[in-house]
Amino acid sequence: MNAAFAELKQRLAETHDLAKAMAVLGWDQRTMMPRLGGEARAGQLATVGKIHHELFTSDEVGRLLEGLRPYEESLPYDSDEASLIRVTRRDWEKERRVPAELAGEILREGSRGQAAWLAAKQASDFSLFLPALRKVTELALRYAECFDAGDSPYDAFLDDYEPGMKTAEVKAVFDVLRPELTAIVREAGPPADDSFLHGDFPVARQEAFLRDLLPAFGFADGAWRLDPTVHPFCTSFSPRDVRMTTRYSPAGVRALFASMHEAGHGLYAHGLGPSLERSPLARSPSLGLDESQSRTWENLVGRSRPFWERYYGPLQETFPEQLAGVGLDDYLRAINRVVPSLIRVDADEVTYSLHIILRFELEQEIVSSTLALEDLPEAWREKSRELLGIVPETDAEGVLQDVHWSRGGYGYFPTYALGNVISLQLWRRIQHDLRGLDDQLAAGDFHQLHGWLQERLYRHGRKFTPKETLERVLGSGDLDPQPFLEYLREKVQVYQPA
Ligand code: ZN
Repeated sequence: MNAAFAELKQRLAETHDLAKAMAVLGWDQRTMMPRLGGEARAGQLATVGKIHHELFTSDEVGRLLEGLRPYEESLPYDSDEASLIRVTRRDWEKERRVPAELAGEILREGSRGQAAWLAAKQASDFSLFLPALRKVTELALRYAECFDAGDSPYDAFLDDYEPGMKTAEVKAVFDVLRPELTAIVREAGPPADDSFLHGDFPVARQEAFLRDLLPAFGFADGAWRLDPTVHPFCTSFSPRDVRMTTRYSPAGVRALFASMHEAGHGLYAHGLGPSLERSPLARSPSLGLDESQSRTWENLVGRSRPFWERYYGPLQETFPEQLAGVGLDDYLRAINRVVPSLIRVDADEVTYSLHIILRFELEQEIVSSTLALEDLPEAWREKSRELLGIVPETDAEGVLQDVHWSRGGYGYFPTYALGNVISLQLWRRIQHDLRGLDDQLAAGDFHQLHGWLQERLYRHGRKFTPKETLERVLGSGDLDPQPFLEYLREKVQVYQPA
C-alpha cells in the first residue's frame, strides 16, 4: 500500500474513533444519563469534539491529501482508496473553514440547548427555550457564514445532511408535494376506526415482539440494542454495535412502528462493508438516503398487507385481550389510517411530509430573518392551520415537539420527507427486480429484500454522493416525488374505511 495513503488511513481511523466516542456520549445522554448530568456532558462533548476537529483539520492531513492526488487519479473512481481520498478531501476542506473555537461552541451550546428544550417541553413553555434557541441560531448563522454564500445560507445547512443538494431542489420537490398531499388528505375520507389500538399493550410484551422480529430483518445476534428514550434515534459505534432507541407507551403499539423505523437506520449502519470501517466512509451518503431505509422498513414493509399476513397472528397472540376479535383487514385499515394530527413522529404517511414542509418553510423564514424567534410559536400555529387544518393548544404539542432546533440543526427536517420520496423511487426498482417479493414478505422472509439493499446501498457507506448513489442504483440521480404520491393515492383508495 502507498505509504502516504496508509498514514492517512491511520489518522482517519483515530479521528473516527473520537467521533464514535462522541456518539457514545450522545447515546448515553439521551438514554441513560440522569437529568443533572447535562452540564458536565456538554463539557465532555465539547472537549472530545475540539480534539476531533483539530486532528481532522490538521495541516498534516491536508498535506497527505494533496500529495495523494496522483495516487487517487491512478485508481478507479469507485475504488475504496480513491473514494476515501475524495470524500475526505471534501470533508477536510469544509471543516477547515470552521474555526475550532466556533465548532466547539456549537457543540457546547447545542448540548445546553437540548437541556433547555427538554425543560421547556416538560413545562410546555416556549419562553424557557427562547434564550437557548437564540444562542444556537446565532451560532448556526455564523457557521453558514464560513462557506461561500450560495443562493441562501440554508444551502450550507443542507449540505451537511445532503451533500451537494441545494435549497432550490428541495423547494421544487416540496412545491409538488404540498398541494398534492393536502388533496390526498382531503380525499381520504373519514379516518378508519383504530380504537382497538388504544388500550392495554404491556411494554414488556412489545419489547419481546420486537426482539423476535428485528433479527428476521437481517441483524446479527449480539450486534444491536434497542433502548427506551424520549425522542427516538439510531446511532452506531461500529457495524457490530448498533444502538436503536424507541419510545414505548403501554397504551398503544406505535413503538412497534417507531422501532421498525429505527431498525431501517440500523440495518444501513449494520451493513457497512468491512473495508470501509473506521473511516469517513463508514456511514450513509446522506440523511435522506438513510431515512429512505427507515421508511422502507417502517412503512413499505411494516405497514404492508404481506408483512402482516405473516405477523398479525403472532401480534394477536401477544395482545389477545386487545386484538383477538379484530380481523386483519380492520387492523390494516387502522395502522394505515390518514388523519391530520399535531405530532410529527406520530403522523401517518400522508400528513407526515406536511409536518416537514411546515418546518422547512419556517426555517426559511428564520434563516432569512423575516421571522423573529419570539414569534415562532404563533407562526407555527398559523402554518399548522394552513397545512394540517389543526392548531396545537400547547407549545409542547407545537413548536417544542422536536429536539432538532435545540442543537441549531436547521436543514435537517427536509431530509425526512426526501427519505419518503427516495424510498419509493428505490421500492419501485426493488419490486421490478425481486419477483415474488410479496410472497417472501408474507412468509416473513426478508433475505432477498435485505440482500438487494445490502448489495446496492448499505455496503457502500459514503463512497458516493447521494446523487451518484441514486444514479448507480436507478440510472438517474434526480429526485422524483411521483412514485411516492402514486403510492399514497393507491393506499388511500385501498384502505378507505369499509
Ligand atoms: Zn429516521
